[in-house]
Amino acid sequence: MIKPAYRFLRGYCLDPGFSTRLDTASINEGIYRIPFEVLKPGPIGEYVEVIDFDPASHCWYDPVDLGDEEIASQYGLPPSEGNPQFHQQFVYAVAMKTIVTFERALGRKIIWYPRRSPRLAYELYTQQLDPKIHWNLRLTHEGRLKGLPAGLLSEGYVARLRLHPHALRDANAYYDPEKQAVLFGYFVAADQFQGANYPGGLVFTCLSPDIVAHEMTHAILHAIHPLYMEDTNPDVAAFHEGFADIVALLQRFTFSEMVEQQLAMTGGRLDRYNVLGELATQFGEALAGNRGALRSMIGRWTTKDGKEEWEPLKPSPADYATTVEAHDRGALLVATIFDAFQRVYAYSTRDLLRIASNGTGVLPEGSISRELVHRLAEEAREVAEHLLQICIRALDYCPPHDITFGDYLRALITADIDAAPADDKGYRVALIEAFRARGIFPEGVKTLSVDSLRWSGPNFTNKQTKMLSSVINEIKQHIRLLVETTDRHKVYELLRETQLVCQKALLFNKQKAFKEREWEDFLNKLGLTGRPVSKLFGLDSASVRFPYNYNSYVLPIEVGTVRPAFRASREEGRQIEQVLVTLTQRVLVEIGEDGERKRTMPFRGGCSLILRLGTSNEAEYVVGTSIKSYGRFERQRKYLLGEGEGPGPSASLYADDDRPWRINFNLLHRHRADGLSK
Ligand SMILES: [Zn+2]
Repeated sequence: MIKPAYRFLRGYCLDPGFSTRLDTASINEGIYRIPFEVLKPGPIGEYVEVIDFDPASHCWYDPVDLGDEEIASQYGLPPSEGNPQFHQQFVYAVAMKTIVTFERALGRKIIWYPRRSPRLAYELYTQQLDPKIHWNLRLTHEGRLKGLPAGLLSEGYVARLRLHPHALRDANAYYDPEKQAVLFGYFVAADQFQGANYPGGLVFTCLSPDIVAHEMTHAILHAIHPLYMEDTNPDVAAFHEGFADIVALLQRFTFSEMVEQQLAMTGGRLDRYNVLGELATQFGEALAGNRGALRSMIGRWTTKDGKEEWEPLKPSPADYATTVEAHDRGALLVATIFDAFQRVYAYSTRDLLRIASNGTGVLPEGSISRELVHRLAEEAREVAEHLLQICIRALDYCPPHDITFGDYLRALITADIDAAPADDKGYRVALIEAFRARGIFPEGVKTLSVDSLRWSGPNFTNKQTKMLSSVINEIKQHIRLLVETTDRHKVYELLRETQLVCQKALLFNKQKAFKEREWEDFLNKLGLTGRPVSKLFGLDSASVRFPYNYNSYVLPIEVGTVRPAFRASREEGRQIEQVLVTLTQRVLVEIGEDGERKRTMPFRGGCSLILRLGTSNEAEYVVGTSIKSYGRFERQRKYLLGEGEGPGPSASLYADDDRPWRINFNLLHRHRADGLSK
């Protein structure tokens, strides 16, 4: 029998509460279309496994078998809040939908963040001290590495992310990077009528498509940029939060019926009240004393003269400077992207509106024709899809650590120029306008134009270009293999091997090609250094407390990730073939006075190298920050000690253990819920 291409599963498009509201009941059920895979009961598939144990009641719920003929023949189980098997099916459906969105945009497989593998780290490190002696590594004529310790490449591999639909009795859900799991909670709704909630009823976070997509995005973002777990400036945690919401929000527009209904309600306009701009409505309504959704992206309910009114939010150029708390700052990023979405939507539907309004472009009040609604919804879906792709692809153009919103804007612009040089719908201009309206400016950019925002190309000397080209040559074969390989475990092994080959090529070629001074110049262009740590910040080094004697110690270079990005462009016939390599160095520094406030702070420098494959192997962009920057070091130190201009990281948000300054999503989300119930 031929395997089907897709599996169709019924589920909610918005939170389950919308099924009991007259205006949305008819459209809250949709069909999730996800690539077919053979599933074990759970469901357990290639990327995720749903494990349904409820610790509060010590109960294992029977796992749903989506391969069962009866279930499969009716598009899965019908949506039901009271059926745990449906919950399992639903978590699986939304999780897979989110994974597919990312894979399509990135042009590669999602590989989960590995369990810690001290052995590889050790090998990479010692090899650097003396690459020749330590390993007798050879490349075979197929370009594969010989002489590796057995099992080294597959160590730490995580095949499936674990999803626990009923993991806690709590108004919370979070991604746990140590367990490589997502835990969903459920809770009793507040004892009062609010929105569409049944007072005292149970609310399941695993039934909110927004919350599932949000948590999945945390997991995927962590796999792509593991160093974004380090809270080094006020934008980092906010970026994790905001980006997770952006994915959840834009994914909604794939459900055409719901979009059509909402557009019909608002007369085709997205700047009037509609449920598309709200996230996790039921979750928000169920918390005591809270009106409306968790975060309302485009407007707010206010009470005027005893009457409740919905008001669109007006952006202000002071927003970025004055919004400092992590969740608010995250919401600001979401509002910015949603603003860009509205702008492109308005631009691309203006002809339709002119046709429908006898040339004025302004539709009369009242309901609009079904055909027009249908066409508008089509446009909205397409714009949301493209914008989401742009947002995801931009991740590859972000620095490997210490990200700011300004960096993200530059990444968005650069990624999109590469993908669609013509930009006939004005995505880039819309993005720039939306960022400008909120005062989000990247550092060191004088004007906000497409040209000045695009990351500039590197200025390597001929010799340096040749050096990079030879590194690319060595990993080229691996990259080709990687693109052809579909088995994710194999992909993982190949990625790690490529990492090693890349490191080896860098170090060996250095010895052949460069004198000490030239090598340092080359490293500096990559945000790195080959000088001893004690002189890291030049004269300023004297005021820095290094915990070790670093007189002759040179920081090892870490090849963090090697990722092929082969993808089709938004414009027809264009194919982009790139490889992204991250190179970083890390130094430990003591900060704070002796006693309670004394901590060890990791400080990083380095870059994301975006390389082009093809007839010529070249570096297209070098995106990063220098390890030698004392100014940045001081900023990070002050921020962590709460001495910066804004507030420091709230202690409650971050894990207080041996990995300092790591984001803890459990606490981050709990904080969010508390804040709302105030
Ligand atoms: Zn989150």
